[in-house]
Amino acid sequence: MRSIFAAAGCADEEAGLIARELVGANLAGHDSHGVVRVPLYVDWMREGWVRAGQRAEVVTDGGAFVVLDGNEGFGQTIATEAVALGIERAGANGTCIVALRNSGHIGRVGAYAETALAAGLVSIHFVNVAGSPLVAPFGAVERRFSTAPFAVGIPLPERPVVLDFATSLVAEGKVQVASFGGRPLPPDALIGPDGMTSSDPHVLYGDYGPTDLRRPSGGDGAIRAFGEHKGSGLALMCELLAGAFTAGGCAGPLDGPRKGITNGMLSIYLSPAHFGTQAEFERIGREYLDWVLGARPSDPAAPVLAPGDPEAASREARLAEGVPLPVDTWAAIVRTAEGLGVPTPA
Ligand code: NAD
Repeated sequence: MRSIFAAAGCADEEAGLIARELVGANLAGHDSHGVVRVPLYVDWMREGWVRAGQRAEVVTDGGAFVVLDGNEGFGQTIATEAVALGIERAGANGTCIVALRNSGHIGRVGAYAETALAAGLVSIHFVNVAGSPLVAPFGAVERRFSTAPFAVGIPLPERPVVLDFATSLVAEGKVQVASFGGRPLPPDALIGPDGMTSSDPHVLYGDYGPTDLRRPSGGDGAIRAFGEHKGSGLALMCELLAGAFTAGGCAGPLDGPRKGITNGMLSIYLSPAHFGTQAEFERIGREYLDWVLGARPSDPAAPVLAPGDPEAASREARLAEGVPLPVDTWAAIVRTAEGLGVPTPA
């Protein structure tokens, strides 16, 4: 993966960062945000929709808060810089708010919450995708929200908690994975213009061949917001905070065709040490979490899990056994590599 991005024009360090984050998403079990994205990213680079070698530019520096512009650079570079700045400021002052706009696709948002956790910080992230309406609000059949993810990281001792999800019923990448023959979608994940729910990726992408790029402009249906009116409301808040408040733009209205993925992210970093509650926070929080997890499961074979547990379990298993990929995903990556003259393993 690193060789592909280097051949496509990224400096070696950036190519490595992109590869590491994508494979990291596969390891965490989120194949939707893993190497399945490689052909699309390379395509977007060619189109000029994402740019190598960019830095997060400071637009406003208020000390306790910072506004950053990502200049359409690779999200793996830009968000990494934004998170590092938030961690540094919160480490110094106890809290920091970072409003990031115009970043290329930042991928799995939980990865940034995990970075903050490693520095002992609570972090809260509202994210949107500017100019990418894919999701129908509660009660609608037309696309109005992006998949607008939301993430929170809580640094409890030995058992950090990371909640990280798209506010759509499924992330778009999961529709991609299903379209490549991977895990099928829930039966009510999508909605057609006729108001009928569906699990068929063609509702979102229209017609496609086995290794074709999947383009959401091809279909006339939508992904549904999760959690009925409540999830739909959270999606709206992600759009307003990550899209409007950062001034990067909401999912629409569109003034042109969708161009790759441009993320906005409003992040809040909190240092329990500075708030003076660290010891109680850790004790009470850990005791409470253990009590929550001790609830009698409805299925005796499936213990109650904390957010972040499935990712940790997947990481352990896949680091040991490798990352399985659908044949068509691998074929699309090989085709991209060959197009760039990068040798691929048999
Ligand atoms: P998902 O539906 O798999 O939900 C994941 C969350 O639920 C995690 O916090 C996980 O730990 C928790 N979870 C899963 N099973 C659980 C269980 N049994 N008990 C308790 N908790 C459980 O995730 P998703 O909505 O498909 O999102 C996938 C990824 O897509 C996320 O990493 C998200 O950040 C990313 N995403 C990114 C963008 C972007 O524009 N950058 C857009 C959308 C989604």
